[in-house]
Amino acid sequence: MKDFLGRLGIREMNSGACNGAWLDTKGEDLVSFCPADGQPIATVRQATEDDYEAVVRAAHEAFLEWRMLPAPKRGEIVRQMGLALREKKEDLGRLVSYEMGKILSEGLGEVQEAIDIADFAVGLSRQLYGLTMHSERPLHRMYEQWHPLGVVGIVSAFNFPVAVWAWNAMIAAVCGDTMIWKPSSQTPLCAIATQNVMNEVLDRNGFPGVMALVLGRGSTVGERMIQDRRIPLVSATGSCRMGRRIGEVVANRLGRTILELGGNNAILVDETADLDMALRAILFGAVGTAGQRCTSTRRIFVHRKVHAELVKKLVAAYGSVSIGDPLDPKTLMGPLVNEAAVETMEQAIAEAVREGGKVLAGGKRKKGPGFFVEPTLIEARPDMKIVREETFAPILYVFPYDDLDRAIAWHNGVDQGLSSAIFTRDLLHAETFLSHRGSDCGIANVNIGTSGAEIGGAFGGEKDTGGGREAGSDSWKAYMRRQTCTINWGKELPLAQGVKFDLE
Ligand code: NAD
Repeated sequence: MKDFLGRLGIREMNSGACNGAWLDTKGEDLVSFCPADGQPIATVRQATEDDYEAVVRAAHEAFLEWRMLPAPKRGEIVRQMGLALREKKEDLGRLVSYEMGKILSEGLGEVQEAIDIADFAVGLSRQLYGLTMHSERPLHRMYEQWHPLGVVGIVSAFNFPVAVWAWNAMIAAVCGDTMIWKPSSQTPLCAIATQNVMNEVLDRNGFPGVMALVLGRGSTVGERMIQDRRIPLVSATGSCRMGRRIGEVVANRLGRTILELGGNNAILVDETADLDMALRAILFGAVGTAGQRCTSTRRIFVHRKVHAELVKKLVAAYGSVSIGDPLDPKTLMGPLVNEAAVETMEQAIAEAVREGGKVLAGGKRKKGPGFFVEPTLIEARPDMKIVREETFAPILYVFPYDDLDRAIAWHNGVDQGLSSAIFTRDLLHAETFLSHRGSDCGIANVNIGTSGAEIGGAFGGEKDTGGGREAGSDSWKAYMRRQTCTINWGKELPLAQGVKFDLE
């Protein structure tokens, strides 16, 4: 076994549930494979529904104590988590690359994101502010305060196996919630390793049950969690299909969700843009993480005056992307996560060609072990069916445009609404794109690509992307319950709106 696995507490056979201590779980074995060579890394014995039950009970008990700890003291424990993540950054980043397939620099970046959100949450622990309002009644005071919510369910996708959990977990922790994490079955080892890092900090501080983990299928323990009325909030990251199911089930029991679902992100490049800058951003957005980011660039609309020049540069750049072992520092693009992802990409390319698209670069899978493909550039039309779908792979559709408003209409004419960008040096074009008749996405950038958001902003998207917001800004409010309090410090009992209700 690789050294870093041992240092992260990964063994040949691992338990699939932890509620402060690892349980002797009884579920089916799940083997985690390395996408770069298709070889098994380690096995996890998944959790059963009984294991889930033990975990949820412990998480609820832990909540009763954790919520009583003052928020800045919770922040102090989260500060220690940030330090522990810093210590393990190299090993954890390596594991992310090894198990998920993104290149090492991105694996390390993912752990850095977890560190950043921990730092953010520490500051937040002293800033969970409520408003005061002026009461319409004399000698009355009105204010709102924010209380911890309970046990939060976190469902995460394979492509950010550490960071997305951290966005939720660090904020939920300072808000006074405990949590149960159901990670993707593609990346169970990243979850176990992260849980081990957290366990050490939580044990040392006497709060072992604050962060719990349950590994199992979405259709078994996942379903159990989303139907569980003891989980007031489910924060779920994944495909639109999964989000529709979770949204429906949780809404049916009147619970809350934060849904972070698929994207179909586009960049507009106008006639004034710095093409070299646009090229670099497009390349990182479309090829980075092998097109497996929710914010990956999937479509570009290029003004006809610069279309041919930019396409030429893109074709050249696509041909020189180094594809290979994600742990090799020279590699720019690692593998797709599994065989099914390769097949989905092949089908999407075939469909695009059937609909009249033309492959300008790439288009094939690479021979040899592992799930490697060529990044693919396709000349397409915005009305093609396939370009309206999110294919979780490095396929980029390119379209020329003549009129900015028309391009914005095409840009917005898909079901998803996550991330968007314009490259321009024209102020009017930039402001049009950012205005209410511009991009309809949750994220809109100028002269920055669609992927690689900072944790300080609220992250999420509109339409089929689910409407949820995570990470910075005031996203924390979703993890707490708001209480409006009115205090009468007078000797009368006046009613609001002047209503009279006195006995004769
Ligand atoms: P997926 O939908 O296949 O799985 C996501 C998670 O949902 C997994 O943990 C899975 O086990 C779980 N799940 C599935 N059905 C469930 C159910 N009925 N109950 C409970 N849990 C269930 O997604 P994936 O292939 O792992 O990830 C890729 C997708 O995630 C893409 O669509 C991508 O855009 C999206 N994503 C979105 C964001 C965002 O912030 N918007 C971030 C990362 C990934």
